[in-house]
Amino acid sequence: MASALPPSDREDPAADDLACLPEPRVALVTGSTRGIGRAVAGTLAAPGPHGGYVAVLHGRDEERAAKAAAEVAAETGGTTDSVHGDVSDHGQVSAMMRRIYQRHGRLDALVVNAGIHEAGLLGMTSLDTIKRLFGVNAIGAVYTLQAALRLLRRGACPSVVLVSSVMGRTGAPGQTVYSATKAAILGLTRATSKELGPTGIRVNAVAPGYIQTDLLATLDERALTATVEATPLGRLGTPGDVAAAVAFLLSPDSGFITGQVLGVDGGLIR
Ligand code: NAD
Repeated sequence: MASALPPSDREDPAADDLACLPEPRVALVTGSTRGIGRAVAGTLAAPGPHGGYVAVLHGRDEERAAKAAAEVAAETGGTTDSVHGDVSDHGQVSAMMRRIYQRHGRLDALVVNAGIHEAGLLGMTSLDTIKRLFGVNAIGAVYTLQAALRLLRRGACPSVVLVSSVMGRTGAPGQTVYSATKAAILGLTRATSKELGPTGIRVNAVAPGYIQTDLLATLDERALTATVEATPLGRLGTPGDVAAAVAFLLSPDSGFITGQVLGVDGGLIR
């Protein structure tokens, strides 16, 4: 079947693996001032088979993003940079990508991670909360991926990982709107993997279970204990668990994998 894409957008999928490893490779991780994003940025900046990127950290606040980037560089011995902006604001996302273009000229890897969590029964959830959750988690992800496309097309064997959640796959009472925003990420992953595959851009998602970060602060102790008991591996996840899975999906080791959702949940969904 003929492709609707211009010939200049096509890449040879069988290209030599070495073509995937130009130096330096550039990776943007949104929401990387703390938690999962920060661990991902650290893994990508550190030397190692799935590291060695110039890791561009990102947060809403300019100073906090720059501080996190300096700390990750010091911790890993790697190279980092930072950008800032609210992912639910289209203009700020575009400005972020312009800055990356000016400084680095391309992106080889993108991790769409920035997100917020608010629990609540559907009938008790305010309109503001609904708009905020969708604005950051779902619309923000679309803005980010769309605005990054030109940079990714200039990248080597470009790969995108979106951060969904176990909630996006199964849902749970009291997590209705959050679950809906994370299910949107799965649709975005599957559709864009089909649309962008012919351009050589891979798109996958991770669906973390319960991971020990500040985001879990809204869940009570009883719910967390019940989760650990329901998890075959018998513990909460760590940001490092998610970072390792993301780094694999970005690397040439997963070069024939696209449109997939990788659970990082200790076996919670089976
Ligand atoms: P976190 O609260 O520790 O970090 C979230 C990051 O996103 C922060 O850096 C924050 O600054 C950034 N962010 C939030 N709103 C933003 C906005 N409007 N614009 C720009 N940046 C913004 O949370 P975390 O646990 O590290 O979560 C990271 C991702 O993982 C989220 O998408 C979350 O939904 C997902 N997730 C987390 C868990 C978990 O148990 N922690 C489980 C499944 C999925």
